[in-house]
Amino acid sequence: MERNAKVTSLKGVGEKTAKLFERVGVVTLDDLVRYYPRDYERFDPPVPIGTITAGGVYAVEGVIVKSVDVKQMKHLRIVTTMIRDDSGILRVTWFNMPFLRNTIKKGMRIILRGRVQCNQYEMCMEQPTMYTPAAYDAIAGSMQPIYGLTAGLTNRVVQQSVKQVLEKLDTRKDCLPAAVRKEHELAELNFALETIHFPTSEENLLFARKRLVFEEFFYFITGIRLMKEKQEILENVFPVRTHALADRLIAGLPYELTGDQKRVWEEILSDLQGDGVMNRLIQGDVGSGKTVLAVLAMVTAAENGYQSALMAPTEVLARQHYQSLVEMLETLGLDERIVLLTGSMTAKEKREAYRRLREHEADMAVGTHALIQDKVEFAALSLVITDEQHRFGVKQRAQLAGTSENGAALSGVNDEGTVPGEAVAVNNGVARDETAKTGGSDAGANRPVPHILVMSATPIPRTMAIILYGDLDISVIHQMPKNRLPIKNCVVGDNYHPKAYKFIEKEIRSGHQAYIICPMVEESEMVDAENVTDYSQKLRGIFPGDIVIESLHGKMKSDEKNRIMERFAAGEIHILVSTTVVEVGVNVPNATVMMVENAERFGLAQLHQLRGRVGRGSAQSYCIFINGNEADAKNKRLEIMNQSNDGFFIASEDLRLRGPGDMFGLRQSGLLEFAIGDIFNDADVLKMASEAVNEVLADDPELIKEENREYRRRTDELMHRRMERLSL
Ligand code: ADP
Ligand code: MG
Repeated sequence: MERNAKVTSLKGVGEKTAKLFERVGVVTLDDLVRYYPRDYERFDPPVPIGTITAGGVYAVEGVIVKSVDVKQMKHLRIVTTMIRDDSGILRVTWFNMPFLRNTIKKGMRIILRGRVQCNQYEMCMEQPTMYTPAAYDAIAGSMQPIYGLTAGLTNRVVQQSVKQVLEKLDTRKDCLPAAVRKEHELAELNFALETIHFPTSEENLLFARKRLVFEEFFYFITGIRLMKEKQEILENVFPVRTHALADRLIAGLPYELTGDQKRVWEEILSDLQGDGVMNRLIQGDVGSGKTVLAVLAMVTAAENGYQSALMAPTEVLARQHYQSLVEMLETLGLDERIVLLTGSMTAKEKREAYRRLREHEADMAVGTHALIQDKVEFAALSLVITDEQHRFGVKQRAQLAGTSENGAALSGVNDEGTVPGEAVAVNNGVARDETAKTGGSDAGANRPVPHILVMSATPIPRTMAIILYGDLDISVIHQMPKNRLPIKNCVVGDNYHPKAYKFIEKEIRSGHQAYIICPMVEESEMVDAENVTDYSQKLRGIFPGDIVIESLHGKMKSDEKNRIMERFAAGEIHILVSTTVVEVGVNVPNATVMMVENAERFGLAQLHQLRGRVGRGSAQSYCIFINGNEADAKNKRLEIMNQSNDGFFIASEDLRLRGPGDMFGLRQSGLLEFAIGDIFNDADVLKMASEAVNEVLADDPELIKEENREYRRRTDELMHRRMERLSL
């Protein structure tokens, strides 16, 4: 049978089942073999009835001592009987299976396997599966695979289909280099595949799994490395010689830089002074003080006669960056040398901004993706900084690569590694792919290539980032500024509102401000969630008249949004009722309360970003999460938020809750989706695979040696599929 044959070539799989399989991503026989079980069920030998305890799953062997009784209760038909062995007697029930009356007869000897629950009076086995002693004997002691399913597709069908494929397919060729397999003691491929589906022992299962996890990482890392190999080391044509302005700026700051900020600044500076183009990711939790590092780099570029651009994902954030840059630059007398460029500016304002950049009348540009429009031409762009880049979509990045003076170089912008949303290395490759397709990659081959600096709060573990993104430099800020107090959190129900409002009023009376976040803009019949417009209206009735309450949401006109944001920043608005438009980057240190309505509707990453809007100054800050779902009082995500302010911890908990591919939205990107490997729990294998790839590539960088041919082919095949899945 052909590996690439459709699943319909299997016995018992028709068009209908094939459709169901397709829903879980299985089209070919090969897909099916790689459709690894999600879990396993152990079939332990039967135990004496007298020894079982409630809560567990057991098999018991005995005699049916009572004819079957069927009772109707509301919509349920409850089937009951009793089974007895030498040690005791046990009640058994099934729901909505009245036909069992004809199958189960008093006096018959059977094996029942199911979960045992305890009601007020006695223990009871619910919904057990029935076996003849002979049938159970055949599977006793084994582990049976449990697959991810979709409505209509049963575990049994998947199991049997997989079994058929394993029997019928020819032995497959193991593409892992033999030397690698030997060195890392990895199972042979055919053995691994059979064992992962139908393990013969726990030990064998672990052995098989390790092989498959290793191989998955191994091919992925190889693919990434091969893409990177093609990237030449680019010369720094904007060498920095002096940095007096940055020194002055640091000396004039109202605070002292933290040790981490100083270290990262030195890393950036040494990149700017170095021989190669900078390609650096700054990773630091919300509020760790990344912006000032961007400013230092921009000022230094200006001092050396170059231009720089800072891009933000939202207009609100771009404007705010612009304001704070202007303030910092005033002290250096450089505030005339910066322009703002956003979509909501008038055509005339934009033209003026373009002109100033083209004629090098401005050294620094701050803006949204309006900065990457065709019309923008820089005289000497040496540095591109993106803040919280994950908000930029793949498309915008491709655009950036395409419209830049040098497609190849700016594809480096994709090289950040910021993640939520999508990640880097592959985007990098993708971007290059794109330019290749349009023939754009050569167009500006000898134009100057700017430095790339990406700032992100996304906590991808450093080791993982390095493994995945290879040649990207990463600077991490661990320390928070000294003046910070940890944010105090609480998770409360709807009934807490009066108390919360009192508390907010008290904070406002002592000179602070508050955010209240609602998930919806306007009232919707469908969703019973607090909404911005009505809510602020309601609050105006609750709070005393001198407390200024305004609302902010994405559907407002830009200038209206900007005005509100500016007034909030200036302290003229006390309570800002907003959607998540304030989620990323906004910095109003005087705000000390963040209250999130219907917090149960938000993801962990979002909640963490939202909370990051407070605790940015020296005053004690508070975050109130309102859980609007009474039925789920112990919401796990909210518990996690309540427990910790640490983005790293939250990310790892997010991972545990949602599974590896989905950490902080990674699943959307599909990039880090692995069929079996888990980037956290299998971190040791990931590292091992990474080192193995390095070794092989050191010896055969292009993988052209005979012994690596199959490996190369398989890598290309898998990389190609991954790209397809990303549908780019
Ligand atoms: P983020 O890393 O989230 O982008 P920002 O750069 O916006 O954080 O900084 C948050 C706040 O902390 C700003 O008000 C900034 O002025 C302040 N800040 C930055 N560095 C320090 C420091 N070393 N000490 C005290 N405050 C700082
Ligand atoms: Mg920021």
